[in-house]
Amino acid sequence: MAQHFLLSKQARTLSLAKVIRMSDAEAYEAFKAIRWAENNGEAVCPRCGSVEVYTYAARKIFKCKGCEAQFSVTTATIFASRKMSIRNLLAAIAIFVNGAKGMSALQLSRDLDCQYKTAFVLAHKLREAMGAELKDRKLSGHVEVDGAYFGGYVKPENRKEDRKDRRLKENQTGKRRVVVIVRERGGKSYPEVFRSEDQSVEMIRSRVEAGTTVYADEASSWDALHGSYDTKRVNHSINFKDEDACTNQAESYFSRLRRAEIGTHHLISGRYLVAYAREMAWREDNRRVSNGEQFLMAAGAALGHPVSRQWKGYWQRRAAFTI
Ligand SMILES: [Zn+2]
Repeated sequence: MAQHFLLSKQARTLSLAKVIRMSDAEAYEAFKAIRWAENNGEAVCPRCGSVEVYTYAARKIFKCKGCEAQFSVTTATIFASRKMSIRNLLAAIAIFVNGAKGMSALQLSRDLDCQYKTAFVLAHKLREAMGAELKDRKLSGHVEVDGAYFGGYVKPENRKEDRKDRRLKENQTGKRRVVVIVRERGGKSYPEVFRSEDQSVEMIRSRVEAGTTVYADEASSWDALHGSYDTKRVNHSINFKDEDACTNQAESYFSRLRRAEIGTHHLISGRYLVAYAREMAWREDNRRVSNGEQFLMAAGAALGHPVSRQWKGYWQRRAAFTI
């Protein structure tokens, strides 16, 4: 039997350069191999799971012998109802994965020569697929917990006498949110968005398994964790590392998210904050994985992820609302 495509050297070193040199047929075969990896790249009916399918010589569609459903290589994935060529979709994934600080829709639209709207939705679909991998994540061993605030920026007035004290609640916009990260040392991360750190304690208890050693800073929100875990604290106003108590890996996650905010998106807040937070967790967790494997993981996540309810027909719906 031929070697499994995803285990081949060719797959592990897939890059943007290789994708753009592919012929249409090669891009289609690579896409099929990723989509139906568990069946050696052969079509599987998305409706009933049957591998008995009719293929057509002239058209790139399949028909299930069992339930008679007709489907294509993108049916029931985030790329259903696509307008882009298969090769461009693969290129989009490669470009997106390569952005260590994230990838803005504007840059993606320039690189792919597509509309901003198309790139915007595509990037969010990829974020959603990456984020979906975190759904059932549990953490254990040595786990760091930390929070950082994003959004709700209030621009200072020009004249000094008009400026307000932005530290006071009445002078804030109410849009500030805290991203709380729970991160296994040398392992996986899980971020979520809250209004304040203390609201995240329930999430931490549900995600972090009993018997875990938890590391946190001196913020009083984390006092509640002492009852559930062996909790070690570090007072950042005194030092950043107290014996083995530190939150350096959580901090390194935040520095990536902050760089994405400042360097790539300029503003990440509100309803998309959690999507960016999860994308950055994916990037941080997979930072030592080779570029080709990152590409395959992101592509595999995207092709294994069902049609996004949030992003399907997004601009059409928006247009309907604004008319
Ligand atoms: Zn079927």
